[in-house]
Amino acid sequence: MPIDTVTIREPDYGPRERLYLRELVRGLLITSRHFFRNLFGERDLNSEVGERQGANLIATVSYPEERRAYPPGYRGMHRLVPREDGKPRCVACYMCATVCPAQCIYIEAGEYDQEGIEKYPTRFEIDELRCIVCGFCVEACPKDAIRMDTGTHSPAVLSRPLATFDKEALLKGPAVSHPTDAITYGKSRRGEPLKH
Ligand code: SF4
Ligand code: SF4
Repeated sequence: MPIDTVTIREPDYGPRERLYLRELVRGLLITSRHFFRNLFGERDLNSEVGERQGANLIATVSYPEERRAYPPGYRGMHRLVPREDGKPRCVACYMCATVCPAQCIYIEAGEYDQEGIEKYPTRFEIDELRCIVCGFCVEACPKDAIRMDTGTHSPAVLSRPLATFDKEALLKGPAVSHPTDAITYGKSRRGEPLKH
């Protein structure tokens, strides 16, 4: 089947356009307008400065002294969610590490002696430089043990290893509990209630 060819016709420029003089002057005027507005214009102190429509106000946000609030659905830095007793909710099932498309989660599992659950992470690391912030790990977790609700993004670092956050850095509150936690975490393997 023949492929349709499309002929692109060159616009019909007149001698005035071909000189580019008018467009050059227009561009200079726009640049000058922005320059003088930024130099002498009023500063918009509205916290929602990004949404303002005013033509004469400067919209620059002086980061990091000023920061715009992230939208509610923003996926921030990860955290390992603690239980009420401070231990990680994580049961070291490796589902987050398996689903992670960037393969930036590293887990080593240890075994509990007494608790109803078998495993917990002895090592849990996320390389935030490799992370593509897709949120798959959060979706895949069966225990609500990893969240991206910190509202912060990963900080700038001077070397790659500093962008890898370990269990101690990731385990932070607030603690989360669910009605099924008593079944999952609250009994020993023999079914007796645990004393914490
Ligand atoms: S957000 Fe995506 S890329 Fe980042 S750790 Fe989770 S699964 Fe991996
Ligand atoms: S999916 Fe959840 S419970 Fe499983 S290893 Fe990851 S954080 Fe832990």
